[in-house]
Amino acid sequence: MIDITNVGTKQTQFLRRAYEQKRLAHSYLFVDSDESRALNTAYWLACLFNCTGENKPDGTCQNCRQILSGNHPDVLLVGPEGKQTLGIDQVRPLKEELAKSPVESSRRFFFINEAQKLTLSAANGLLNLLEEPVAPVVTILITNNSDQILPTVRSRTQIINFDNGEKPSGKTAMLLENGFSKDEIDELGNLEKRDQEIKYFYQEMLEHNSLALVSAHKLSENAKLGSEQRYILVRLKLLAEHDLNDPRKMEMAAQMLKNLIEVDKMRLSNVSLRNSLDYLALEWK
Ligand SMILES: [Zn+2]
Repeated sequence: MIDITNVGTKQTQFLRRAYEQKRLAHSYLFVDSDESRALNTAYWLACLFNCTGENKPDGTCQNCRQILSGNHPDVLLVGPEGKQTLGIDQVRPLKEELAKSPVESSRRFFFINEAQKLTLSAANGLLNLLEEPVAPVVTILITNNSDQILPTVRSRTQIINFDNGEKPSGKTAMLLENGFSKDEIDELGNLEKRDQEIKYFYQEMLEHNSLALVSAHKLSENAKLGSEQRYILVRLKLLAEHDLNDPRKMEMAAQMLKNLIEVDKMRLSNVSLRNSLDYLALEWK
């Protein structure tokens, strides 16, 4: 769902200036950890260019509505649509279409979503379009990871970074602080269920509930990746640190942190997660 009110503020200011001064580049690379915001911004630019309203882009005039509904002949979008790669077969027909003149306006817009998934041949097939389009086209590649974009593609685009100067917040910030890389954070995915299970395990230990041993097994079984295993221990540590502020739980939390330091040492000497969590559960039996 495209929403041109959810866009990068600085980025739209920059693009508006470029548009007003007729300095729009013919290819951009939008780098944004929030890819939907970057895609919205690309549509915002197409609307700005075509809008017939007073406050451009209003998102409500006929042109804007046509663009936002995906039915404007001069605004084309391609993306992997759930697939792992974006291949030459998906890109080629659009490229051929883009060699023709715009249908309704003076310029066409070509958006490539999740550009990090372009195959090598698809990316190579785009190079001449990025460098010197035969017809007036603004191509915008959108990615959440510029490292995965070929240098030959990157060097032909004007890069607009949406993450610049913005600190990651919430869970991402917590994970980065605890030494997880961006790739590992992606790998961890949605942590809601895991967090719940870790919390149960933690509470069962504090309550000396024998179910803690069962929970320990379940947790370790579902954590095959190194990042997942580390996450469980980090989360337990955070729960204990949090409880240090609670006078009723302070003593137990301190003991738990001591145990977790022991577990860290065990992990360094390659004790498995399962044995480490067993150790914890037994300590609190
Ligand atoms: Zn409009």
